[in-house]
Amino acid sequence: MTGKKEGLNDAEPYPEQWYDWKWQFRNRITTIEELEKIIHLSEKEKEDISKCLEHFRMAITPYYASLMDSNDPMCPIRMQAVPTINETRIGPYELADPLDEERDSPVKNIVHRYPDRVLFLVTHMCSMYCRHCTRRRTVGEEDFVISDAEVDAAVDYIAKNPNIRDVLLSGGDPLTMSDARLEKIISKLRNIEHVEIIRIGTRVPVVMPMRITPDLLAMLRKYHPIWINTHFNHPKELTPEAVKACSDIVDAGIPLGNQSVLLRNINDNTETMKELLLKLVKARVRPYYLYQCDMSQGLSHFRTKVETGVEIIQNLTGNISGYAVPKFVIDAPHGGGKVPINPKYVITMDNNEVVMRNYEGEIYKYPQPN
Ligand SMILES: *Cc1c(COP(=O)(O)O)cnc(C)c1O
Ligand code: SF4
Repeated sequence: MTGKKEGLNDAEPYPEQWYDWKWQFRNRITTIEELEKIIHLSEKEKEDISKCLEHFRMAITPYYASLMDSNDPMCPIRMQAVPTINETRIGPYELADPLDEERDSPVKNIVHRYPDRVLFLVTHMCSMYCRHCTRRRTVGEEDFVISDAEVDAAVDYIAKNPNIRDVLLSGGDPLTMSDARLEKIISKLRNIEHVEIIRIGTRVPVVMPMRITPDLLAMLRKYHPIWINTHFNHPKELTPEAVKACSDIVDAGIPLGNQSVLLRNINDNTETMKELLLKLVKARVRPYYLYQCDMSQGLSHFRTKVETGVEIIQNLTGNISGYAVPKFVIDAPHGGGKVPINPKYVITMDNNEVVMRNYEGEIYKYPQPN
């Protein structure tokens, strides 16, 4: 990183420790008083935020806060970080655990829904508490890391199930843990012969990119194959710091994917999504999933019609590199798993031929072999 950046308010330069992730973590904005120093808040907004804070926590890294527009409540960065009164409105269909993850949990902190892979929730902590988080019932409730005994019980479950070849470390955000703590877990998993790949789901490259240190990457590369999936939602998040974190990850031989959530008034249009996806590919990040927003409590203001996602995918397919187009999925309520929702390209398909539409809407026929 070259030179000092402009300060949070332009009068002050960024503090010395700006690029120290532990400093970023310690100095997260968690109160209205701290928030007020960075963005303009009306009395009404302050009242609303304090009502939200009774239900859900707030934590924003100084880095991510510095990307917020201090005067615009519709700023896409701000909307992901700062609570609004909408979160206290629980819609009739909204659930505390929309994906029934508790039901699919054979042992604490493991979600085993698919035959060959498990989610391993290693911490409830995140560097930022995203306002649209699906796991808000657990994430952000308390800052705790799971105990050694719990890690061992989960590792034991994986060791005893030879069909598990892919372990996804998630949470919370695994990269809020220390390198040592993380290594302890990863090395245990790496000792299990049938575990082929280890994946880490993390929003750190987006909200605290200074966490991606040479030490962390040197540790991770000892346990290859490691994959990472991150979570960029808006092109404004691809700052030089974030792009650098992504290239460092990829340079460590770690394939880097991205999952976005389709969010109303943040990224629910083709233009924004296209800019995001192209910037990701340029940063060597492969768009993986675009999620329809889950039915977690207090998220109705973020949800779009499913058609919006289908339209965006249809507008992008064929028009930009295939690499840049993610799979649009709904994580089906009650533990149905991820279901891909695709634009319709096949008009009819029978023994003789397939009639299909291309990305420009023209009709083509493909004769079947007889
Ligand atoms: C998303 C998810 C996975 C990983 O699914 P992929 O489609 O392989 O990325 C695994 N387990 C659970 C419970 C999940 O929700
Ligand atoms: S980083 Fe992920 S788990 Fe943490 S609050 Fe954001 S969406 Fe939820």
